[in-house]
Amino acid sequence: MAVEKALISVNLFTNHRSIKDGGEPVSIDCPNCFKETYDLEEDVCLICEESVERECQLCGSHIPFSELDGSGNCGYCNHMISKDD
Ligand SMILES: [Zn+2]
Ligand SMILES: [Zn+2]
Repeated sequence: MAVEKALISVNLFTNHRSIKDGGEPVSIDCPNCFKETYDLEEDVCLICEESVERECQLCGSHIPFSELDGSGNCGYCNHMISKDD
């Protein structure tokens, strides 16, 4: 899909600049459609328009972009849940 390809390459370009400047990436892999089109600034996926929770439902802390998986929990809480003991 041409539009999608264009979007992704624009995002990759912006990401590259943003990471070089020491900030968070502009976009990440979407937890819903798994394309690298989830816009962290707008908090919405450019392709599927899904929006994920950025605050942990359990501990209320800000979820780092690397731990966003659409579960609504931070990596630590997800780890505690999956431990199950
Ligand atoms: Zn998506
Ligand atoms: Zn948490």
